[in-house]
Amino acid sequence: MSTRTGSSDVVSALASAEAHYAAAHPRSAERHRIAAQWMPGGNTRSSLHYSPFPLTFVEGRDQHLTDLDGHVYTDFLGEYSAGLYGHSHPAIVAAAQRAIEAGLAFGGPNQHEAELAQLLTDRFPAVELVRFTNSGTEANLLAIATARAVTGRSRVLVFEGGYHGSTLSFRGPNPLNAPFDYVVGTYNDVAGTLAHVDAHASNLAAVLVEPMLGGGGAIPATREFLASLREATKRSGVLLIFDEVMTSRLGPGGVQQMVGLRPDLTTFGKYLGGGFSFGAFGGRHDVMNHLDPSREGALSHPGTFNNNTVSMAAGAAGLRDVFTVDVAVAHNLRGDILRDRLNDLFASAGVAMSATGLGSILSIHFQTSAITSAGDVVAADARRALLHLEMIARGFYFARRGYIALSLPLTDADLDAFVDAMSDVIDTHHEILEEERT
Ligand code: PMP
Repeated sequence: MSTRTGSSDVVSALASAEAHYAAAHPRSAERHRIAAQWMPGGNTRSSLHYSPFPLTFVEGRDQHLTDLDGHVYTDFLGEYSAGLYGHSHPAIVAAAQRAIEAGLAFGGPNQHEAELAQLLTDRFPAVELVRFTNSGTEANLLAIATARAVTGRSRVLVFEGGYHGSTLSFRGPNPLNAPFDYVVGTYNDVAGTLAHVDAHASNLAAVLVEPMLGGGGAIPATREFLASLREATKRSGVLLIFDEVMTSRLGPGGVQQMVGLRPDLTTFGKYLGGGFSFGAFGGRHDVMNHLDPSREGALSHPGTFNNNTVSMAAGAAGLRDVFTVDVAVAHNLRGDILRDRLNDLFASAGVAMSATGLGSILSIHFQTSAITSAGDVVAADARRALLHLEMIARGFYFARRGYIALSLPLTDADLDAFVDAMSDVIDTHHEILEEERT
């Protein structure tokens, strides 16, 4: 064991990694500087910002990304799970191209939307009727709004560390959140959550929960937690909404199938649009039927691009021809094996690191202590930054916060190379990474 405190080591190691990164990516740095003239901080998507500046990409092919300075990376970010199909899957590209060639933006229904709706409702039986949106954020806003309108109640129970979109984020204070009446519970805390449901039951419209905290650190819910939510909401006439924007890819029928529970509403997004803008919300027939525009007093949900042909066609091709039931099972098994390999590596190297998650979504943490809710996560900002830049230097791209989503084109050799690179970073910075800190 090192006797040093480690803090000065990580500061100087990070400074040197940043200097190396800046020297290797002058064109990305320049693009970032120029972009800041017209966009706040040069950025239009907060999650893509990291210091000293983010890489700018010019091309994506299969599982590879090329940056503006000509470096090629193996992509382990997988566009925060939306890039399940990789960057150029022929079936997706062909479907999108056919949709484009048929003409853009009809201003009327097209042939693709009902096909995607059928594929989706077949795969997720709790979703009896579905509506499309343009993002996961929008899907969650509409699911909440629908629940409030249908129940006539106003409050929404969410969980600390939950992320449901840019205006529905509970990972710390978010002044941009939509002004609903929230109650914030602790993830995986069964007793505390049941107490919230009971205390607010008469005015509680919905419980909105990710079956695994995704952006919050790839922290799976226990089955007991989700089952108790199902039970309590049913008893109190509260609608249970599973946000499966990220988790629907973790099994053929999402986490709801894996845990054998039927939410009232489910929200979707990401890869289900084939890699194009996408969101969806759906569920119980009696709830969703309020959106039938031929009904007296129907809830109205317009949206110019709700049925845009490219997302609809590419999404349908993906679910029908690429991400089949068998592929979903096999792909997530590969993720489970990678997670085990990383945890074996961390344990045998004696570093205070761990890999969490389910199936093909993983998150790297800088602790060996258990993580069951967002409050358990050790921030470790400097170590996260150091690992991120050191893996970029070795040709691997993933999120600064340690988030990884495996795409289908990644090969076994890519996964081996990733574990080797991680091992090399650990060898290089062993003293920094071995100490458990809180
Ligand atoms: N819900 C979850 C669980 C998500 O992970 C995300 C996106 N990271 C969203 C909702 C929001 O989706 P979008 O970015 O498409 O608005």
